[in-house]
Amino acid sequence: MPKTENWTVEDSENVYRVKRWGAGYFEIGQNGNLHVTPDPSNKDIRIDFKAVVEEIKQEGIQFPVVVRFHDILRSQVALLNQTFQQTVKEAEYQGEYMGVYPIKVNQMREVVEEIVDAGAPFNYGLEAGSKAELLAVMALNTNAESLTILNGYKDHEFMQLALLSRKLGRKTIVVIEKFSELVLLVKTAKELNIEPLIGVRSKMTVKGRGKWEGSGGDRAKFGLTNSEIINAARYLKEHGMADCLTLLHFHIGSQLTDIRAVKESITEGAMIYSELYRMGFKLKYVDVGGGLGIDYDGSQSTNDSSRNYNMQEYVADIVYGMKQVCDLEDVPHPTLVSESGRAITAHHSCVVTEVVGAIKSHGAGIATDPAEDEHVLVSDMRELSEIIDRQDNLQEIFNDASQFKEQASNAFKLRVISLEELAKIETLYWQIMEKVQFRLKDAEFVPEEMQELDFALSSQYLCNFSVFQSAADTWAIDQILPVMPLTRMNEKPTINCSLVDITCDSDGKLDQFISEHGISNFVPMHNLKSDEDYYLGLFLTGAYQDVMGDMHNLFGRLNEVHIFSHDDDPQDFYIEEMVNGSSVADVLSIMQYNPSSMAKSVKKLIDGHVAQGQIKPREGVKWTDFYENCLKGYTYLKN
Ligand SMILES: *Cc1c(COP(=O)(O)O)cnc(C)c1O
Repeated sequence: MPKTENWTVEDSENVYRVKRWGAGYFEIGQNGNLHVTPDPSNKDIRIDFKAVVEEIKQEGIQFPVVVRFHDILRSQVALLNQTFQQTVKEAEYQGEYMGVYPIKVNQMREVVEEIVDAGAPFNYGLEAGSKAELLAVMALNTNAESLTILNGYKDHEFMQLALLSRKLGRKTIVVIEKFSELVLLVKTAKELNIEPLIGVRSKMTVKGRGKWEGSGGDRAKFGLTNSEIINAARYLKEHGMADCLTLLHFHIGSQLTDIRAVKESITEGAMIYSELYRMGFKLKYVDVGGGLGIDYDGSQSTNDSSRNYNMQEYVADIVYGMKQVCDLEDVPHPTLVSESGRAITAHHSCVVTEVVGAIKSHGAGIATDPAEDEHVLVSDMRELSEIIDRQDNLQEIFNDASQFKEQASNAFKLRVISLEELAKIETLYWQIMEKVQFRLKDAEFVPEEMQELDFALSSQYLCNFSVFQSAADTWAIDQILPVMPLTRMNEKPTINCSLVDITCDSDGKLDQFISEHGISNFVPMHNLKSDEDYYLGLFLTGAYQDVMGDMHNLFGRLNEVHIFSHDDDPQDFYIEEMVNGSSVADVLSIMQYNPSSMAKSVKKLIDGHVAQGQIKPREGVKWTDFYENCLKGYTYLKN
C-alpha cells in the first residue's frame, strides 16, 4: 500500500473498488467523500453522501437508516427497457419487449409505485407470486397496456382475483405451475364466465449456475414437464380454450452467474415455443423469467456474488437467441417478457450505520516491567521483544514467541505461573507480533503462517445495525455486499477490521469484503476519532435484503429516508419522505406482548415502591415516563 502522506482518493478506489460495483451511480469524490450520480446520463447532478448524512442528522432521524435513491430506481427501469428496445430494433426482431417487475424482490409501496411510474412510457408491468402480492399488484398496476404476470402456487381465491382483474380490462396472465392449477382455473373461469389469459411454466432441462440452480431441472419445485405442457395445451383445446394459452414461461434461477446458462435456456425455451406454435397453439409471449445478476463483488466473474456478463450482453443473448431459433423454425417472433427484479432494485438503496466502538482481538495489554522473582517464560518473552529490532530472522522470532505463548498457557493451567504473569506474556507476545507485521509490510515474500498475522491483528468495528435485519443474505448464503466509509477517503485507512453488529449472536458479523486481491476477511477502515462520528455504508441492499430481514433480538425495521435529485437544489437533492422504522412497542406487539399493559404493570411496581417510601413520588413519575418512552423509541442504539 502507498504511504500515508500522499494517499489519494485513487488509492481508496483500489481498496474499495467502487467503480467496479457502483455501475456508474457511485464514485469517490476528490474531497474524499462518496458521491452519488443517480442518473448517469445527467452527470451535473452529483450528491455528496456526507451532505445526506448531515441532513439526516439535522432532521433528528436516528441511525441506522435505509437511504433510498428513487432516481437510481428510475434509471434502472429506463436502462433495462431501453436496452431491450434498442436491441429489438438492431436485431430487426419482429416482436416487442414487455417487461414486468416481480414485486417479491422489494414490495415497499414507494418502491413499486416509483417503478410503475418510471415504467409507464414502456408499458412496464408487475409480477406477483402470492395472493397478498396479487392484491397489491391489482391496486397498483392501473396501466391497461402493461402485463400482470401471476406465478407461484394458487388456490381458488387466487384464480377468482385473477379473473376479476381480467374483467377489469387488465392483461393478467395466470402462469400454471402444476397441472391441477389448470383444472382449477378452467373450472373457475367457466363458473364466472370470464375468459382467462393462460401461461405455462416449463421446468426446462437446462439449469442455471449459482446459488439458485435448483430453480430449473427435473427436481425444480415449479413448472410442467414437456409432456405436462402438451397435456395442458390439449386439455385447453378440449375445453374450447386453446386461444387462452398465450405465454410460455421459464425461470432457471436468480443471480445467474454464467451467461452460458442464459443462452442455453433461451434456445430450449424458443424450441418449446416453436413446437407449440406448430401444434396450433399460437402463443403471443415468451417470458424468460428473472436471473439477470448483479456484480456485488466487482469481480466480473462466475463467483456466486458476481456474473460474467453485463445487461447489454444478457439482453442481446435473449433477443438474438430467440430470433435465430424462430427464423430457423419459421414461426413468428413472440413478444418478449422478462422478470428482472434484482437488477432493477439492488442499487437504489443502502444502509448507513455509525461505528460505535472498536474491539481489539488482544485488548490493551498490561505493564510488563520485570518483577523480582518472575518466571523464566516471562523473561524469555521480554528478551524476544527487546532483540526483535536487531534481528533479521523474523521467522525465528515468530516461532519462538508462538512457542513461549503456548507453553505459558499450559503453565498457567498447571498453576506454574500466575494470571498476571500470563497477562504479561500475552501483552509482550502481541507487541512482538505487531512489530513482525510492521516489518513484513515491505517484504517480498511472506511465509504462509505469518500472512495470517494481518487477520489475527485486525480489529472488529462494532456497528449499530443487525445483520439479520439488514443483510440477511450475507448470513444465510454468504452473499458479499460492498461496505465502505462515506467520508475521509483522502486519508489512508490504517485499521484492518471486520464488522460486528449489535445482536447477541456471534453470527451477527460481516467478515467477507471486496479487496484489491479478491475476497478478504477484513477491510481497511479509518481510525476512530473521539470528536467525530464515523459512518459506514452497506451497499446494493435494494433487492431482497431490504425486505427479507427478520427481527432477531427484536431489532426491527430501519428508519428510511427517500432521496430525490433536484438540479436547482444547492446540494442536488432533497429528502422527499421519511418513514419511521419499528418502535420497541411495534416489535413486541408482533410477539404477542401488549405494550400498554406492560407499561401499566411497571407503573404499578414503581407506585408500590413510592408507597413504601423507597422511591420519591417525583422520581417515580420520571421512571414511569422513561419506561414508556423507551417503548415508543427505536430498537437500535441511541447516540
Ligand atoms: C424471484 C423470481 C424472479 C426475480 O428474479 P431476479 O433474479 O431477482 O431478477 C423472477 N421470476 C420468478 C418466477 C421468480 O421466482
